[in-house]
Amino acid sequence: MKVLDQLYEGKAKRVFKTDDDQLYMVEYKDDATAFNGEKKGTIAHKGVLNNKISGWFFNRLTDQGVKNHLVQVVDDDHQLVKRVEIIKLEVIVRNIIAGSMAKRLGLEEGLVAKTPIIEFSYKDDDLGDPLINRYHAQALGVATKEEIDTIISEAFKINDLLSQWLDEANLILVDFKLEFGRTPDGTIILADEISPDTCRLWDKDTREKLDKDRFRRDLGGVAEAYVEVWRRLQALDQ
Ligand code: UDP
Repeated sequence: MKVLDQLYEGKAKRVFKTDDDQLYMVEYKDDATAFNGEKKGTIAHKGVLNNKISGWFFNRLTDQGVKNHLVQVVDDDHQLVKRVEIIKLEVIVRNIIAGSMAKRLGLEEGLVAKTPIIEFSYKDDDLGDPLINRYHAQALGVATKEEIDTIISEAFKINDLLSQWLDEANLILVDFKLEFGRTPDGTIILADEISPDTCRLWDKDTREKLDKDRFRRDLGGVAEAYVEVWRRLQALDQ
């Protein structure tokens, strides 16, 4: 596999073309941003850890029949993925109220949702990823009704699987963000990453935050938290 030109550089990853036009190489970076890029920093070894953590989740999801873009984790900070057209939606799943939802609705962080919640944000950095609903997405041609039905059922299924695995790792899956892509034949598959950058994870006993909120809120011990999540996931394979 030959890696060719860089196609795109995002906040936490770089994407490269390869000599197979159906495959891209993704490089995970240590850079971290929050609040729509206002806060910037680096987290030691984050690229390696997120590559491994996300690879772990995607491989397990593959085993459970959840179609996704991962072909293989290639080395410490690279993974080979299928080329997809990213759907311009951030799909947020919430089990416990936190972050922007707590703020928006004046709710206390930690309130347990009676049922899981799905939210959509329109992926547009200039607009700050505004909250929209499925009808906006359909009406504006971001995705079709059938595609959104698929995205919702996949997101709930992924939530059930991740919650179960993380529970075994003594972690609570508070909320997380997913992105989906369209393959050239029009199939909707899970893309992007699942990591402490994109999930809120709380220790089940102490409720200690083990995710990017440590960076967002200057809580310290950011890199250590990512290491701890990876340690607990690996322990599940023993
Ligand atoms: N999230 C993400 N990328 C974003 C926005 C949110 O990965 O651009 C994740 C975030 O880490 C959390 C969940 O989605 O696990 C819900 O985030 P929320 O809407 O509460 O926004 P935030 O508080 O992060 O601004």
